[in-house]
Amino acid sequence: MIRSKAIVFAAPRRPLVCHDTTVPEPGPDQFVVRVTHAGICGSDVHRLIGDLGAPAGPVCFGHEGVGVIESIGANVKTDRVGNPVAKGNRIYWVPGGSCGQCRFCRGEKTLGFCQNRVWPAPFGAPNAAAFQEFATLDLTTSFCRIPDGVTSDSVIAFGCAMPTALTALQRLGDISGTNVVIQGSGPVGLAMCLVARLNGAAQVAVIGDPVLRLDIARRFGADAIFSLSDTTREERRARILEMTDGAGANVVVEAAGRVEAFDEGLHLLAHYGRYAIVGLYSGSATTSFNPVYVNNRNIRIVGSMYLDMREIAGAVDVAAQAGAKYGFGDLITHRFALEQTEDAINCASRGESIKAIVVPSGE
Ligand SMILES: [Zn+2]
Ligand SMILES: [Zn+2]
Repeated sequence: MIRSKAIVFAAPRRPLVCHDTTVPEPGPDQFVVRVTHAGICGSDVHRLIGDLGAPAGPVCFGHEGVGVIESIGANVKTDRVGNPVAKGNRIYWVPGGSCGQCRFCRGEKTLGFCQNRVWPAPFGAPNAAAFQEFATLDLTTSFCRIPDGVTSDSVIAFGCAMPTALTALQRLGDISGTNVVIQGSGPVGLAMCLVARLNGAAQVAVIGDPVLRLDIARRFGADAIFSLSDTTREERRARILEMTDGAGANVVVEAAGRVEAFDEGLHLLAHYGRYAIVGLYSGSATTSFNPVYVNNRNIRIVGSMYLDMREIAGAVDVAAQAGAKYGFGDLITHRFALEQTEDAINCASRGESIKAIVVPSGE
């Protein structure tokens, strides 16, 4: 038995409570991780205010974890992409994964669609939530070892945004040589900016706010940045047409989470343009658009919800390749103790942080 503490969410708009718990020794298919870094995600803000519905009972959550394997069951030999793992190794994980049995897991490995996924995790049983000192993971969890030389900060800096961006890229297809416009400069928008650059986009433009975030987009290689508050929609379109010899963007990625972005993004596309909808994933949003416009320009619109399990390892690779060069760790502007998880989520909600994290058990 290990003594632990866990953050518990009972209902929307009710305070989060930090409970003392005990974590049993792992079974043969399980392992226990001491959580060193737990990222705050935009979806945590949505959860607290009830956009994701109310849980049936008290639950544990936090879905961006980095930690150290504390004890490990006999059957856990490798991570989900085959790297050997042992006690003492650092890993990055997103709770849930692929059961291998349901219709989703037999096809695409999209984490989140698995019909046997239990998330958020009911409080009281060992679980993989990140907002706790010790998490219990198992062979179905999406996890990847972090190699020596790659800092934990550089992996958690983007949290689930990096695998989300990599999954969106998979769904878009090859973007080398294209002109890319990214709507939104939150974690997914910034991750997408970097991913576009690393994958050979000819030009990358980012629309967002505040300037602090746009400066990071610039650091990640954006050729143009447009502040939403300083430019009009017409000005942005005129500049993007100018950048693309009047053609428009080959690829637009909606990572803004605002329905107004859709109409603007659609009208930034060139003929044969591709549009990925990534940020509009919760609540409900309706807008009218002209399907004739989509038809007449041979436009493709793709949704990209959740993330491909394999991109957990993809995100660790990006941190290994580019984390030091681009200073990923600098994105972490706020760190909170486990007991302050609600403050951390509120900080992210107010847009004060670039990335806020909770540090459940220190390094
Ligand atoms: Zn997330
Ligand atoms: Zn499944």
